[in-house]
Formats: sequence, structure tokens, C-alpha cells
Amino acid sequence: MQTLTAFLLAERTERDATILPILRKALEGERLPFDDIVALLKSPDLLSMGMAANEIRFRLHPEPIVTYVVSRNINYTNVCVDYCSFCAFYRPPGHKEGYVLPLESSCKRCRKPLNWAPRKS
Ligand code: SF4
Repeated sequence: MQTLTAFLLAERTERDATILPILRKALEGERLPFDDIVALLKSPDLLSMGMAANEIRFRLHPEPIVTYVVSRNINYTNVCVDYCSFCAFYRPPGHKEGYVLPLESSCKRCRKPLNWAPRKS
């Protein structure tokens, strides 16, 4: 029996055709080899990947419960020497907008409760 996602993937010509066989393999439960994973990482077709991932998730966990990890990035400094091309956050050492938080301030941020409460929908 064809799954809903597989049907949608097969019928949508605007999708990235190069990843469809890979997504079909994933939907059939195959473990993806390295080259397939690289192809997925290079594809702009997030919608098809999201649809496939969502179907696999529901197969594995059909119960209507979704959990997330809430993480906190303390950002104790914006001084960095890596200069990633996409980053607008870093300041090079010695820059007037560079900062390093004192340890006490970082610890205070760690202890601060999250202003976030889970919602049930
Ligand atoms: S993302 Fe920004 S802060 Fe992080 S390593 Fe790259 S340049 Fe540094």
C-alpha cells in the first residue's frame, strides 16, 4: 500500500526529483547511506523532506504527544575568531562592541527560570 506521503511525493513535479528516491527509501524503512544524506543536505526541498519526516515520526510515535528540548544559549561572549560568513553576532577581539560577561552574570542567567510554559493544543 502506498503511503500518503509517498503518493504526494510522486505526484508533485515541482519537488526536487533527485531526492525523491531517497525519501522513498526512508519511507520504506531503509537506513540511508552517507551519499544519500549528503544529497538531502544539499537539497532545497525542505517541504518534501519535512513531509517524509513527519510521516515517519507518526509511524514511530502515533500518540498525539510531541516533546521538545528547550535549550538556553547563555552567550557569555560575542568575541570570536572563527568569522563564519553567515554570522552577524561575533565581534573580533578588541572590537568596541565585544563583550565577555562576568562569571556571576553567566551563572545568574543559567539559574533564571525560563519564561516559557508548555501549551496544549
Ligand atoms: S557562528 Fe559566529 S560566534 Fe559562532 S563560531 Fe561562527 S563567527 Fe563565531
